[in-house]
Amino acid sequence: MTPINEPEDHTEITKGSGGIQFEKKIRFASIKSPLENFETVEQKIEFRKDPLLNHWSRVNTLRAERVKQAASPNESFQTNLDDLVEKSGQKCFFCPEKVLKSTPKFPDKLGLGERIIVDNFTLFPNLFVFSEFHAVGTLGNQHFTPLNEISAKTWKNAIQGSIKYFKAVYNSDKQVKYPTFNFNFLPPSASSILHPHIQIIQDVKPTKITEELLLKSKQYFKENGSNYWLDLIDSERALKDRFVSDNDFMCWVATYSPFGKNELTGIVKLDKTDLTQFTEKEAELFGLEISKALSALFAGRNARSVNMAVFLGPIGENCSNHFNITVKIVTRPILVPNYTADVGFMELLHNEPIAEAAPEDIAISVKQFF
Ligand SMILES: [Zn+2]
Repeated sequence: MTPINEPEDHTEITKGSGGIQFEKKIRFASIKSPLENFETVEQKIEFRKDPLLNHWSRVNTLRAERVKQAASPNESFQTNLDDLVEKSGQKCFFCPEKVLKSTPKFPDKLGLGERIIVDNFTLFPNLFVFSEFHAVGTLGNQHFTPLNEISAKTWKNAIQGSIKYFKAVYNSDKQVKYPTFNFNFLPPSASSILHPHIQIIQDVKPTKITEELLLKSKQYFKENGSNYWLDLIDSERALKDRFVSDNDFMCWVATYSPFGKNELTGIVKLDKTDLTQFTEKEAELFGLEISKALSALFAGRNARSVNMAVFLGPIGENCSNHFNITVKIVTRPILVPNYTADVGFMELLHNEPIAEAAPEDIAISVKQFF
């Protein structure tokens, strides 16, 4: 596990378990800084490569200190949110008194009835879809629930309701076998409605990242004879730096080369990659882990808005020799009136995200809350 330094191109490789290698390049930018009387200062930039995907990101922890000119000091997240919650709550389609009157109903061919209701979770078709099968589910009956108060039980209900939908869609057409389970929370995450809700989609083809995860995991298995995800858990556990939480059901780490800010990766350790095969107990454990991770990001990283995706294997198949169900959660800007977005040209057009916190520091600040 000792880093191998190759000073010529500043590449540093840390070997993990199996075929896993954590690769980074370290370079220093030199500027005469007005903040230091125009003395020459160096800023470290780390280029990090994901051990599985050909995905690079960059870390410069000093970026968090930059001035955001649009922000004004008297902007309060809570005051702004309270105001928005009150206004939007008066005409919310997802609140219990409107949800059954104003949201779409499932088509008869799915045999699901009008909507799927699991206690405080109601699932129905999205009104404006981007998938042949695209449903929205409300998390709780309250118009607004903070991220850290969406309960494990509510997440369990959402998982169970989603399983029912995924099964019905698959039974109606066995080619539609690629589901995903997703969550945008608050407008900085692109959520247009404040009432907490998940979005699930199911297609004849996997999403780009799902496909890459499945294919590259299979390739890793062929090359190394072991499961990448279990090797990743072993590696992160041994290295300790990014390791966050672990139990028999699931492991969480701070992502080595992230897609977004404060990113956590969760790995379900079950030998099932088809979510529809989860038992009620497994749905309960999964719900508990999701609620723990969101609460830990809320407490440890001041997360108020997030995106989450759960990457699933195809329905009707078990890919557990090479793949595990994986969760990614990233935080988004705080919702104040003039916030600065966190996705710019590097993230959107170059697909090379900039991290303002080292994954190792993220792990330290969230693990105490798990
Ligand atoms: Zn509502």
